[in-house]
Amino acid sequence: MIENYQAADDLLKDKVILITGAGDGIGKSAALTYAKHGATVILLGRTTEKLEQVYDEIEAQGGPQPAIIPVNLLNLSIEQAQQIGEKILSEFGRLDGLLHNASQLGQLSPIDSYNDEHWLNIMQVNVNATFFLTKALLPALRQSPAASVIFTSSGVGNKGRAFWGAYSVSKFATEGFAQVLADELEKSNIRVNTINPGATRTKMRAKAYPVEDPMTVKTPAEIMPLYLYLMGADSAEVHGQRIDA
Ligand code: NDP
Repeated sequence: MIENYQAADDLLKDKVILITGAGDGIGKSAALTYAKHGATVILLGRTTEKLEQVYDEIEAQGGPQPAIIPVNLLNLSIEQAQQIGEKILSEFGRLDGLLHNASQLGQLSPIDSYNDEHWLNIMQVNVNATFFLTKALLPALRQSPAASVIFTSSGVGNKGRAFWGAYSVSKFATEGFAQVLADELEKSNIRVNTINPGATRTKMRAKAYPVEDPMTVKTPAEIMPLYLYLMGADSAEVHGQRIDA
């Protein structure tokens, strides 16, 4: 069982892995965990101070020196994404892992009164920016001996639920995108999978469930075995899957 998966200490040694939304929540935990297992992590997020904090924690735990890309995905242009791809290729020569983790929840509201601007923003961050980045990073991913791309979905990403609006629709799009990409990359060096984290103790969860006692849901650290498994060589044959954490 993946929950009991024990990753080797050096599972991700010499791997270069980009994590979006690496400053908080699940993304932060993944960045720290990947670095602990030897990866050079590229921390992408919108709040520089948070990324710097993660950077410092990685240095303090003796991990390989990380890199920081401060970018608000809401404003990410195609050109900017291409620049990020080119920079990674020139600095690292390849990309071995990509964790698409950053997302925005927006407000929960019925479609009747759903805020139009929020809809556009959520689709921009959760769907369009993910496409821009993936496309721009494919050249670097193709230079890896074995690359892993992980998308992040949700319980509302394959079953619609009242009031979850653009977030739910964006997660359906994420799952569709992952399926299309996985099919295209069937015979390549890149494998593509999707994680549904399930209820996890983060700011997003607290916003969606304000009256829930956070202590009743699992921590990001508790779901890291799956994040490690899918990123490392032990899942070399796993491709095109959607896995619940
Ligand atoms: P958090 O809101 O706790 O963290 C999200 C991270 O993404 C933050 O670091 C945030 O930056 C960053 N981010 C958000 N918007 C942008 C943006 N426009 N540009 C750049 N970075 C951005 O969320 P979680 O850790 O809970 O969620 C991680 C993933 O897991 C998401 O895809 C979410 O949909 C999914 N998920 C989470 C569940 C849960 O119970 N927590 C359940 C199901 C799915 P900042 O710190 O600056 O806000």
